[in-house]
Amino acid sequence: MADPAAELQRQLQLLAKQFRQRLQRELPELSRQANALDKADNESARLPLLLAIRQQLHKLAGSAGTFGFAELGEQARRLEQLSNNWLAAGRCDSSLMPDFIADLCDLPHLAGDSAQAGNSEPLALAYENRRTPLDQRIVILAEDPVQGQSVELTLQNFGYQARWYAARADLELRLALQDVDALIIDSDHSAATELFADRTGPNDLPLLVISSNNDFASQLRAVRAGAVGFLHKPLNLPALENALQRLFSLQQGQPYRVLIVDDDLELANRYALVLRQHHMHVQVCHEPSTVLEYMARFAPEVLLLDVQMPDCEGPELAQIIRFNDDWLRVPIIYLSAETDLSRQMRALLRAGDDFVTKPISDNALITSVFSRAQRARQLSNALARDSLTGLLKHADIKEQVSYEVARAIRSRRPASLVMLDIDHFKQVNDKYGHPTGDNVIRALANLLRQRLRKIDSLGRYGGEEFLAVLPDCNSEQAQRIIDEIRQHFSQLTFQDGSRDFRCTLSAGVAQSNGELTASELLTRADQALYAAKHGGRNQVQVAS
Ligand code: GH3
Ligand code: MG
Ligand code: MG
Repeated sequence: MADPAAELQRQLQLLAKQFRQRLQRELPELSRQANALDKADNESARLPLLLAIRQQLHKLAGSAGTFGFAELGEQARRLEQLSNNWLAAGRCDSSLMPDFIADLCDLPHLAGDSAQAGNSEPLALAYENRRTPLDQRIVILAEDPVQGQSVELTLQNFGYQARWYAARADLELRLALQDVDALIIDSDHSAATELFADRTGPNDLPLLVISSNNDFASQLRAVRAGAVGFLHKPLNLPALENALQRLFSLQQGQPYRVLIVDDDLELANRYALVLRQHHMHVQVCHEPSTVLEYMARFAPEVLLLDVQMPDCEGPELAQIIRFNDDWLRVPIIYLSAETDLSRQMRALLRAGDDFVTKPISDNALITSVFSRAQRARQLSNALARDSLTGLLKHADIKEQVSYEVARAIRSRRPASLVMLDIDHFKQVNDKYGHPTGDNVIRALANLLRQRLRKIDSLGRYGGEEFLAVLPDCNSEQAQRIIDEIRQHFSQLTFQDGSRDFRCTLSAGVAQSNGELTASELLTRADQALYAAKHGGRNQVQVAS
């Protein structure tokens, strides 16, 4: 396989070459226009020429720096600003005109050498994490054994390899093995202050801090120690796990989808290349009028928008996109050669979220896009998912069921619907309290998520009731999978203080037969669940 860094370098060089070729076409043309401007003898002849020159300069100012022609970019920007002033005044300043023309004609000389394009150190974004979510290794430092054990056990029930340490020395020994994916430190631990002090500076191992203090100073201390999560006691373990999940899904989630809209082909392709190199999915749209199709088809999570394009300006396009509620969550970043702050502000007031000024360094581009994409995805997940379990909410899983049932009918393939319910769950809440009950719900949610396939959909249907739809799976197969999950779940030990307990679940399975509608199928799965409850619970029944 080709060395990816060398391949990037090769592609960057190719784009730089294309850009140089473009300069060889465009710069002489600009000189020609400059000569025409020089010959024009009145303002009404000059202004249209100046307008065309200004447009060329604007593009150059935005792109040349990115391809390594920094001096050319800066000169183009200076000349652009001068032409802007003249256009605004409606007349050219004749005393400056000779220099302006000379500078324009001189631009090809500035295009002689380019510094190495690519311009910066590669950024280390926490992407390639090594492990699957099933076996993330978490270590916990806490002095209080009740606290330590309960975090350890609950995280194990949630599907992690969790290990609690009470002594700092033991923790250090474990960390020396370098086989840990995340660290949880109780800031009430006597060694916490020292540990935090040791962690200032770059640190690979993600840290979550738990604390009996929820005040500003404690949170600041955690931030300075590099914490990516802060939880106060009494500990909400599902919330702790949410923080872990956020962390790991950021590290190993699907690549972010980025759409670039720019009429400058080479520049857009270059941005795309740089972002792709950082594991983002990028599409480029050169034609603003087709942007809605891209939005619908590609569903980008971030939109990079050029400001000045022929036919339609960036802020206009942004406003069109904001007409559609479905895309409200997509951040819009303007990529523009516009340096005038008040014009930037005006664009942002119309629509859009951020401004990045061309020429933009690769690192600045990556960071802007990555941070926006990350935030957008977090928000999107927080809105769509049930907060206790991270699963689809009632309405969404029902919608997914309809979709899968329709697909099963079309493809004449079987699909199975599963309804699961924890047995005697009311008693769990009554005996051990609601927060402990929540841990049980979360543990089952994780178990289901881990055992089912990627193509299966899973949702929290009600309090302690779950609904899953398994495409391409008949009822015998479904029963087998769910029964394994049932057995595994019945073996988990939960803890409330010093009391241990276990739980069981019942499930009903119904298979689509090409005729039943989604709601008829739901009724059948529900009836099968009812039969399982009446048959003595802790079992899986298939609808007859
Ligand atoms: P069965 O075996 O027949 O299912 O008995 P059950 O006690 O599990 O069934 P029931 O439907 O009577 O009780 C469900 C309980 O689940 C009642 C409700 O308080 C509890 N519950 C619902 N949502 C939540 C939640 O988010 N957290 C906790 N801890 N409990 C919940
Ligand atoms: Mg129940
Ligand atoms: Mg119930």
